[in-house]
This record gives sequence, structure tokens and C-alpha cells, in this order.
Amino acid sequence: MTSAGRFAPSPSGELHVGNLRTAMLAWLFARSTGRAFLLRVEDLDRARAGAEAVQLRDLEAVGVTWDGGVVRQTGRAALYDSAIKQLSDAGLTYECFCTRREIQEAPSAPHAPQGAYPGTCRTLSTAEREIRRTTRPAAIRLRSETQEWTVEDQLHGAYTGIVDDFVLRRNDGVTAYNLAVVVDDAEQGIDQVVRGDDLLSSTPRQAYLASVLGLPVPEYAHVPLVVNHDGDRLAKRDGAVTLGDLAAVGLSAEEVRDMILESLELPMGPLGDAVDRFEPARLPLEPWVWTGRLQAMIRKG
Ligand code: GLU
Repeated sequence: MTSAGRFAPSPSGELHVGNLRTAMLAWLFARSTGRAFLLRVEDLDRARAGAEAVQLRDLEAVGVTWDGGVVRQTGRAALYDSAIKQLSDAGLTYECFCTRREIQEAPSAPHAPQGAYPGTCRTLSTAEREIRRTTRPAAIRLRSETQEWTVEDQLHGAYTGIVDDFVLRRNDGVTAYNLAVVVDDAEQGIDQVVRGDDLLSSTPRQAYLASVLGLPVPEYAHVPLVVNHDGDRLAKRDGAVTLGDLAAVGLSAEEVRDMILESLELPMGPLGDAVDRFEPARLPLEPWVWTGRLQAMIRKG
């Protein structure tokens, strides 16, 4: 079994400096621990034509290289089907007919944590289920046997979060992110998951699911996001945020890479040169505030 890290972008648009920084960190975590580094395109949902090619080009431009070919989730349906079948055969799934609105309006189950699925469809009788089936297609949910789970994160320490009856397959037939990511990481031999800390709250669900499926739980490091000057997660509307935007204000990919390395208190230059100096314990934990155009202008003097 290989030991590997990965970057798993959703090809919904261009990567911005926050995504590139996360990718560079995932690469540094993997390479500094002697791991392979894999690239998986999470194209089950929201994929935009042409976005993948631009993302891969931009990753390479900042020095993020990967081993082997690019893996795409759309080619892996059989793996997801077989994981869902394994759970269903064990009685660990049920059909859910709830609309978003019904979930919001349902009284929450006794003792259920805030934000958890209220369990409306968990106990439907066969007759009730038959009636509901005629109204709309079902999603498939996990019949979870816990309400919370604790994961160990290299940067956040022990983190306990909600595990509810989360969706494994949506009612439009698309495999849910939480299922796909767990199946893929295990199948690809990924034992180190480095990603943005916006995903930390999903991690207990994923680690629980891995353990229910009998799959190894990877080690985790959730890295700080890049934010705009209001403290909100960086987005396209924040001005010059992609390599394309930044090239237009005169910054090369190498200069952007160097700004990211500087924000990580690492030596500027090729990513490979930073590997020996990279120490997860010394990573700044606060978000990096990106002021786009301003940064570009300061740089250029
Ligand atoms: N595809 C997800 C995203 O771009 C990341 C999933 C992951 O790293 O686990 O937000």
C-alpha cells in the first residue's frame, strides 16, 4: 500500500490564491514526510467545462506536481455503488424523501445536536415509505449509530463534531461528497488528508463512515483559509485572486508562489526548496488576509 497525500479540487472554476496555498501546503506535508502526492478531480458536482485544465495548469505553475495520472470521480461510480451496497446490506442506510424545507421545519430529534438531520425518514413504516416513494425520488442516508465522533488533527488537536444521518447519495442520483471522499481516499492509499479548515466540521462524519466501512482513517491537517479584508473566505468577487487575474496586474506565477511561501514563513523559490524547512508545528494558524490588487502594487513597488 502506498502512503500518499493529495489535493482534490472541485473543477467549478479557477483556483484562487487560497486554493493554491492549500494545494502547496498539501504538497509540502506529503513531500516532507516522504509520501507520494496524488491529484483527484472531484467532478461529481458543479463541474464546469474547461475548469479542470486551467486548474491543473495553475497548480503546475506554482510548483505543485503529482504522481501518476489525474483521477476523476466521475469514472469511479462502481466503487461508490459497492460501498453503498455494503452499508445497505448491513442495514445501515435508509431512504429519505425530505425536502430542504421539511428538514428546516422539522422539530429536531430529542438530544440531537444543532444542525443534525432530524431523523424524519429514519423510522418510516413500509406503508409510509411506499406512499412517499410516489411523491419524489429518495436520497440515501446513513443510519448512524453515534451522534458525534472525535478525530485527531495535526493542527487542531482532538476535534469532536456532529455525526448525523448524513446523505450518501442525493435524490438526483449523485453520490454525496462525504461518501466519495472516504471511498476514494482509502482506495487510493491516501493516509494524509490536508485541506482547508472549512472542511474540519465534515471530518468526524467522514472518519466515522470510514470506520463503519472498515477502511483506515487517514491522518488529518486542516489548514487556515485565505480571507478578504472583511475576514470572509476569499472569493472571485474579491478582485485579483486567480493566477489569471494576477498576471493581468503584472504578477507572474512565481511571484504569487513566493507571496504564498512568504505568508507561510518559508523561503521563497521553487517549492522543492522549501520541503526541508517545512515544519507543520510552525505553521501560522490564523487565516491569511489577502488584499489582492494592493498586494500586487506593493510588490511591484
Ligand atoms: N473537493 C473539495 C473542495 O474543493 C475538497 C475535498 C477534500 O479535500 O476533501 O472543496
